[in-house]
Amino acid sequence: MRRKGLAFMAVQTHEKPAGDTVSLGPASALSCRECGERFPLGPIFACEACFGPLEIAYDLPTGDPEGLRRRIEAGPNSIWRYAPLLPVPADVVDRPATSTNPGFTKLVEARNLARELGVTGSLHIKDDSGNPTHSFKDRVVAIAVEAARAFGFTTLSCSSTGNLAGAVGAAAARAGFRSCVFIPHDLEQGKVVMAAVYGGELVGIEGNYDDVNRFCSELIGDPLGEGWGFVNVNLRPYYGEGSKTLAYEICEQLGWRLPDQLVVPIASGSQLTKIDKGLKELIALGLVEDRPYRIFGAQAEGCSPVSRAFKDGHDVVRPVRPDTIAKSLAIGNPADGPYVLDIARRTGGAVEDVDDGRIVDAIKLLARTEGIFAETAGGVTVGVTKKLLEDGVLDPSLTTVVLNTGDGLKTLDAVAPTTGPTATIRPSLEAFRAAGLA
Ligand SMILES: *Cc1c(COP(=O)(O)O)cnc(C)c1O
Repeated sequence: MRRKGLAFMAVQTHEKPAGDTVSLGPASALSCRECGERFPLGPIFACEACFGPLEIAYDLPTGDPEGLRRRIEAGPNSIWRYAPLLPVPADVVDRPATSTNPGFTKLVEARNLARELGVTGSLHIKDDSGNPTHSFKDRVVAIAVEAARAFGFTTLSCSSTGNLAGAVGAAAARAGFRSCVFIPHDLEQGKVVMAAVYGGELVGIEGNYDDVNRFCSELIGDPLGEGWGFVNVNLRPYYGEGSKTLAYEICEQLGWRLPDQLVVPIASGSQLTKIDKGLKELIALGLVEDRPYRIFGAQAEGCSPVSRAFKDGHDVVRPVRPDTIAKSLAIGNPADGPYVLDIARRTGGAVEDVDDGRIVDAIKLLARTEGIFAETAGGVTVGVTKKLLEDGVLDPSLTTVVLNTGDGLKTLDAVAPTTGPTATIRPSLEAFRAAGLA
């Protein structure tokens, strides 16, 4: 067992009464990723037997791929079109007023960027800045909210690097939960304002994300946290499944085809592992043809514990103290790090990192070539894509999908120092002529 130190937390008093079994669509049980032990669906996240992390096991609708594909295509333009593959009640599609209804974001073919980077195959940006709170986090939160409802929680909470706090605030407001979320005290203004504006409680913690996360783990075990659903802690198995919808959408938008290469950002590593899970499910269900795909992980050099382990050939991840402008990815002790390493190695991918200068350059490159203004996390994936192409690791002749998981307006601080007006002039033609821009 590689994941020592993760304490098992049974959620005591706010569990639904015994005998009242929870039904969440095709989800059949929680299953331990390390030892395979199974548990009934509930607000637990670690295996009682070995402390390994739990994930959702399913009875998926196999047998009629054509029927399933038609059903998905006839569904709403949100993640709920994939409800038959998610741990949510089937009626979720009938009550859009209780969800932020994220997903079905644009898959943009990036021809200008491809030309600039020497890509001869096709290059696509999966642009998740189009979600309700402008990051991919709305996907994971939407699933966690359905679990919170099923388990009878009344307060939604999380430890966040910024984007998650906003997504929880918005989802709670819409679904009628109280919310109280926790962030490191020194986040970008855009993140703090977006986390606060939805009217829930927002608490800045004097420390980094790993300190915030440790604090939340203590709160779960304390009577103070009773009745609270922490979307990324005690609801983590459900939350994680939201990331599968990125894999589903990418394949559907490519015409029910697997991409050859994906470049995915890593914070805790959850998203990357669930994208792999989603792709494997589509293959198993017969919705896409089974061919090899490669998954590449992207980190900022100032917080690159997984990249370091990959390059050193290790299968454990040594925690680091983050120092990077890519604050949404600044998790120094990534819970899913070892699984990310497994996936990168198994699929023939890699994990790479870029420094802050290259992150800013990549944000500007994507904006200049495709008119997409990415969050720093998007600067990380585009920067890593460029580096992997330069190093001959990514194959330029194939179909590649690069994730942009957030909106550049949230991280203006990263580009503001090097971006501004070309000139500031008096309102006269003479002054404009003198500026030499005509
Ligand atoms: C949270 C987040 C991610 C990925 O997080 P994981 O913990 O690895 O799932 C990626 N991009 C942005 C912008 C995020 O906020």
